[in-house]
Formats: sequence, structure tokens, C-alpha cells
Amino acid sequence: MYYIILDLEWNNTYGRKTKSFINEIIEIGAVMLDDDLREVSRFSSLIRSQIGKKLRGSVKQLTHITNEDLDNGIPFTKAISQLRHWIGSRDNTVVTWGDGDIRVLIENCRYLNGIEIVPFLSNYADLQAYFHSIFNSHPSRQVGLSTAAQLLGIDEESFSHHRALDDSLLTAEIFRKIFDRDTFAACIRPCTRDFYSRLSFKPYVIGNINNPLVDKSKLSYTCETCGRPARRLTEWRFVSRHFRALYYCPYCDQKIKVGVSFKKLYDRVEVKKTSVLVVEQKQANEEA
Ligand SMILES: [Zn+2]
Repeated sequence: MYYIILDLEWNNTYGRKTKSFINEIIEIGAVMLDDDLREVSRFSSLIRSQIGKKLRGSVKQLTHITNEDLDNGIPFTKAISQLRHWIGSRDNTVVTWGDGDIRVLIENCRYLNGIEIVPFLSNYADLQAYFHSIFNSHPSRQVGLSTAAQLLGIDEESFSHHRALDDSLLTAEIFRKIFDRDTFAACIRPCTRDFYSRLSFKPYVIGNINNPLVDKSKLSYTCETCGRPARRLTEWRFVSRHFRALYYCPYCDQKIKVGVSFKKLYDRVEVKKTSVLVVEQKQANEEA
């Protein structure tokens, strides 16, 4: 198995075709590693803008890429075709830090090449997700590339940041440090139709209690003090992403504010429940 460690730089610009903003790829960098993680070859390409006319100031500042640089670049379609030839027929997995680059790649292929799939993509792994899984950190607090390098004691000063090839080389360094053949193999996903629909799926919080995806059995509450079912006092109301109601436990004589959220993910519904004991406030005019 070969590993293609890929990194992209992009410029957020307005796409007239879709009447929405799009992250146009301006640079592709990649390093190819063999099965023993030894470097085989490097790929670097600047892309001539086709959607956006000018680079955003923030992008220029971050990458030090200029509009003149991009004028000397090659069209996206050509870069993708070169990348495909560079990878060749090798059995490979494309690896990126976070799935943002892969989403942008799919978006650009759709917009500029009119195709729904990325031609060279057969297997994919998100190294950031792998990093989170082995260090047991919560995926919502995403660790950036440079933070990860620091945590692993990699001297990142020797890499110039926010250029595609250097970022891919830094990602490759991180990859070498944390790679374990068996656990990593479990992270590799074949790029089937399901892979693409999963990536394009946008999770959402269900706001209608009559939605069939709302499991009504989750809308009950057991008193945490005595373990007996509590009684609901109010109707369910949907407030700040949760269905909320007030419950009462007659055995403990206490009221509890209960909130339940149902989040639709690609292949399941994530249910989260919160409960807060209501502390009865003393009447302000009690002493008056
Ligand atoms: Zn109770």
C-alpha cells in the first residue's frame, strides 16, 4: 500500500454558476510514501484561478502566494490529471489532515470538471480523526496540524507553513510518528458511493417532535435521586436545539428541567439528554 499525503490551499470566492461561495483550490501539494512510510516522490502544483479573479488578502498573507504566481499556474483539470498520472496504478490511500481538503476537492471536481467523483481517489483516511482516536481527544475540539506537530515534538520550524507541499510533508512526519499498521488500516475507507454521500451529508437537529426519527421512549425521565419515573408537568417545547419540559418527582418532591436533543447524523440519530434540578427560589418579598 502506498500513502498519498495530500494538502491543498484554497481561496474562498464567489461562484456565479452555483450562486454561492466556493473554496477554489489554488495549490496542490502531496508526498507519496511506500508501505514502510519511506518517501517515494513529491507533487506540487499551482492552479490558475478559473472562478475567482483575485486572491483574498488573508490568503495572500497566509500562503505568500501572489496573483502573479497563480497566473503562471495550470488549470485545475490539468493538475488533477497530472496528479492522477503521478499516482499511477499503485494501490494507494489518500491521507489528509481533517476531511476539509477532501470536501473541497470534491466540490472543485464538481464545479470545474462537472464530475461527482475525484478521479484518483480509491481509498481515503482522515489523519486528524486517527490522531483523535489514538489520543482519545474529543473530535469537537479539533487539533490543528501545527498543534499536533508540537504535541509530538516535531520541529515544525523547518517547514514553511501554509504552503501545500510543506504542509503535506509536515503531515507525513506526523503520520510516521503515530502510524500503527493495524489501527490505521481500520481508518481507511473505500471511496464508494456511500463515502461520497456520507461526506456531503449535513447533520441537523430535529425540531419537530412528531418527526418519526424522534424516539418517543427517550422523552421520559427517571428521577436521578430515587430512580423512579418522574411526571411531566409541561408540554414539550423546542428551545435552543432541545425539546424541553419540566418534570416532577412526587417521591423526592423535586422539580427537574429536562432537555432532550435529537441530532440526525448520516446513519443514526444522536440523542443527548440534560437535566437540571430546580432550586425553588425564596420569595423576594418574604421578609417584607
Ligand atoms: Zn425521586
